[in-house]
Amino acid sequence: MAFSSLQLAQSTMPNGIFKTKTNTFFTKTVFPFTQCANKSLVSNARAITKLTCVNGTTEIATCNHIIGDKNTKLAPLKIGIIGFGNFGQFIAKGMRRQGHSVLATSRSDYSEYCEQNGIQFFRNMEALCEEQPDVILVCSSILSTENIIRSIPIHKLKPDTIFADVLSVKQFPRNLFIEVLPPGFGIVCTHPMFGPESGKNGWTELPFVFEKVRVTDVGAQAEKCTQFLNIFEQEGCRMVEMSCEEHDRHAAGSQFITHTIGRVLSHLNLESTPINTKGYETLLQLTGNTVSDSFDLYYGLFMYNVNATEQIDNLDRAFETVKQKLYGRLHDILRKQIVERVPMQDASNKTSITQLTSLTIPEMNLSEAVAVSSHR
Ligand code: NAP
Repeated sequence: MAFSSLQLAQSTMPNGIFKTKTNTFFTKTVFPFTQCANKSLVSNARAITKLTCVNGTTEIATCNHIIGDKNTKLAPLKIGIIGFGNFGQFIAKGMRRQGHSVLATSRSDYSEYCEQNGIQFFRNMEALCEEQPDVILVCSSILSTENIIRSIPIHKLKPDTIFADVLSVKQFPRNLFIEVLPPGFGIVCTHPMFGPESGKNGWTELPFVFEKVRVTDVGAQAEKCTQFLNIFEQEGCRMVEMSCEEHDRHAAGSQFITHTIGRVLSHLNLESTPINTKGYETLLQLTGNTVSDSFDLYYGLFMYNVNATEQIDNLDRAFETVKQKLYGRLHDILRKQIVERVPMQDASNKTSITQLTSLTIPEMNLSEAVAVSSHR
């Protein structure tokens, strides 16, 4: 196409797909120019502008779509995934389904897997950065992320590169990105609240948490960020925009507790029985799902979420309270009477077994329970 022979007559023309009689092109990819200041134009408008060719002839161009509009067909993103283990591979499938180009690097060699799945694999970070991806998506373990981020040759990247992550904790990567990345780099912190197991049949209605920590309001970075988030929207995710703080508070009370219960249950070596209840089936499934994630991931949920200690303490107290409710009713004599049918020692005592079984011992409140448990 003869784009290079065209020059813009107006420097304030909005980004978009422009059509002349002979050509259709993305103005952004062809001409560097100022973003249109008129917001109403950026929403729906059709713009008409005059293009001057180098041979002196002019053409009228109509802008049908503004870049950033959902319906606009944009050039696919080049997404560089760092950390290509369990979750990196899983999330890459969605990017590929949405037609984006995926590059990957990792500590281990995944070149064979990548070759079979249309992904470019790089043995080191330098080689990946030289490809200048639009988005660097960090999918490394929580524990290894700081070292990894600090070892990225940032100078090889474009100055408006977007950094995104999928870590299951959010304040930590947000603060790390802000500290380490140059000011022009975009930052989007995300947490897909699903994984290879829960998302194996599709991502529809699965929650996708994100915070645009630092992204320009307009221009290429804003557009690419929208394009990146659209991947998850197009896959059917329930998009939840939420601050990193809020995420960590909710996640400690939900995801971390779930993983902890799963980990505890895994130590019971539970097995399927011929009389499984639905509830028990759920527990077996929870245990299986939890232990299929690495212990590093679970440890990361604890160590890198400021709310996790409080939650594990609450869980501990709650367990003790439940135990005390049970043990509070365990009276030796009652046991003997009810289970072992040992006759009453005192013949004059007319209390019947029925009366004894209905005997309730007052429940302890939480602080009493904690006091009892701490003396055990
Ligand atoms: P993970 O154990 O948390 O992380 C494994 C990844 O970290 C692999 O790519 C591994 O590289 C890399 N890694 C680990 N230690 C490393 C080290 N010392 N140096 C360099 N790289 C190292 O398991 P994951 O399930 O794949 O999770 C990856 C990220 O996704 C985590 O941040 C997690 O919080 C997040 N996430 C996971 C899920 C899920 O369901 N699994 C859901 C949402 C978000 P190699 O494979 O090359 O060794």
